[in-house]
Amino acid sequence: TVKWGLIGASTIARQFVINAIRAQADGEIAAVMSSSPDRATSYAKENGIPLAVSTLDELLGPDIDAVYISTTNELHLEQALAAIKAGKHVLCEKPLALTSADARKMVAAAKAAGIVLGTNHHLRNAGSHRAMREAIAARRIGKPIAARVFHSVYLPENLQGWRITRPEAGGGAVLDITVHDADTLRFVLGDDPLEVSAFTQAAGMASGGLEDGAMCIWRFRSGIIAQSHEGFTTKFAGTGFEVHGSEGSLIAKDVMTQKPIGSVLLRTANGEEELGFDREDLYVTSLRQFHAAMGGEGQPSATGEDGVWSLTSAEAALQSAKSGKSVAIDPKL
Ligand code: NDP
Repeated sequence: TVKWGLIGASTIARQFVINAIRAQADGEIAAVMSSSPDRATSYAKENGIPLAVSTLDELLGPDIDAVYISTTNELHLEQALAAIKAGKHVLCEKPLALTSADARKMVAAAKAAGIVLGTNHHLRNAGSHRAMREAIAARRIGKPIAARVFHSVYLPENLQGWRITRPEAGGGAVLDITVHDADTLRFVLGDDPLEVSAFTQAAGMASGGLEDGAMCIWRFRSGIIAQSHEGFTTKFAGTGFEVHGSEGSLIAKDVMTQKPIGSVLLRTANGEEELGFDREDLYVTSLRQFHAAMGGEGQPSATGEDGVWSLTSAEAALQSAKSGKSVAIDPKL
């Protein structure tokens, strides 16, 4: 059995990750930690978790093999370092930390301790994105030239909290969504972004100097250019991911989401073809790969290094928006 401790009584754990852990034949949730003892108790009760605690020391006891960190972003670093020190494998939510320098500290600590560190970039687990990655690697669109990511959504009312009011907690659309887009572009294209130019906006939802929308333009190592749009304020935009190459285009709709939905169309001189793909729950796939990595088989679907890449990319986008200049992306790995 793999015994998990949850660090954070969060929405994402309640909606997706608790189920994904329990969907593994050997996955068990042994404890949950909240900063509030009352919230820990009620969350444990609602989700059938045997132990509720309110300090890291209590959570990181001998019974726990791995922790899932889904607190607000400013807390990830300290909690991950404590878990690593206690010898626990760590699946951490994105962004790994508030700065790429801090994220690198997590990666270095995990490496030194020989433990598995994963970043929960769920989109890599989507059958849709995996189908696009495979089609590109198989040269079905010829030489990839450009990509477009449509990922501006409406932040549900129950989540209109720290993301739009608390810069110190790592709020804002860039740390929330641009990290995912940067990671998904890297994954699907099999290429790394080297430079970004970005505009951000506050369109009426976010306060405190935070952005609730962003548009970024990325240049990749191979010469591919990409654009991405992230936001919290557009109710009817829908999502999508397109890659255009010399011999074809991949056009995916409704795929920048937590659910295994959407469609992927391949358009070439031969006409149009819908690509079939696996519809497994993204988080179940993520947890399966993480469990395998804990057992010495392969790596988490997104590693700590991937988390450093996505955070470095988001950080560069924020810096670009602030300075009005394009910014180089160097994860220093
Ligand atoms: P939530 O706002 O639901 O939870 C974050 C923290 O807020 C919790 O750890 C909890 O603190 C506190 N909290 C929760 N409910 C209350 C309440 N009623 N009153 C006061 N405090 C409360 O955040 P999310 O689940 O949306 O996000 C958590 C993390 O997961 C973030 O890092 C985010 O970026 C990431 N995320 C990732 C997604 C993915 O698909 N990869 C999707 C969504 C989020 P405590 O634990 O101390 O009780």
